[in-house]
Amino acid sequence: MRLTLLSVLLGLTVMAVPAEEHPSGIPADKAMALLMEGNQRFVAHKETHPDASLERRHELAVGQHPFAVIVGCADSRVPPELVFDSGLGDLFVIREAGNVVDGVVLGSVEYAVELLGVKLIIVLGHESCGAVTAAVNHTREAHITTIVQAIQPALEESKGQAGDPVHNCVVANARLAARQIRESQPVMTKAVSHDGVRVQAAIYDLATGKVNLLN
Ligand SMILES: [Zn+2]
Repeated sequence: MRLTLLSVLLGLTVMAVPAEEHPSGIPADKAMALLMEGNQRFVAHKETHPDASLERRHELAVGQHPFAVIVGCADSRVPPELVFDSGLGDLFVIREAGNVVDGVVLGSVEYAVELLGVKLIIVLGHESCGAVTAAVNHTREAHITTIVQAIQPALEESKGQAGDPVHNCVVANARLAARQIRESQPVMTKAVSHDGVRVQAAIYDLATGKVNLLN
C-alpha cells in the first residue's frame, strides 16, 4: 500500500515491486565488488567507461536498475560515476555538501531501496572536505550554517582525537551518516535486518583516487 502511494507520489508509471522480489536486487557483496573493481580501474587510470553507449541510454529510457546508492559530497572532485568507473543507470547518487543526511536524503535512499531494489548504500566522505572544514572552523555564514550544524555531532565525536581535526571529522561524519541511514525507522532498519541491505561508510582520497572502506 505504502509502495503504491510512493509510486504515485513519485510519478512512476510502472507497478512497484517489493525489494526482495525486484529482479535488479544485486546482492550487497556483489555490488561492493563491482564498485571496488571500478575504483581500482580509476586509481590505475585504466577506466573502461562502461554503460555509456547509445544502446544503454535507450535501454534505460523505460526504467532504471542501479546496483548501489552513493550518498556523497557535492564537491566537484568526487563524482561517484567517475570514481567508481561506472555508467548510465549504474549508481543512484545523492549529493549534498558534507554528505550530510537529512529527511530528503533518507527519503531518496528509501526510494532506491524499496522501489529499485538496491542492496548497497555507500556514504562517501572525502579528505579536505570544505563543509567539514567549515564545521571545524565554526563557520557561521548564511545557509552554510545549516550544513555546519548538521556536521556538529561528528565534530563533537572527533573532538580531542590525535591527528588532523579535519580528517578525523571527515571520518566521524561518514560513520555517523552511515549510522543515521542504518538506524532510520522503519524502512531502513527492516531493510538492513531482513532484506540484506548494507550501509557502508567510506572515504575518498583526493590524491590517489582510492576509496577506503571504514570499519
Ligand atoms: Zn566535501
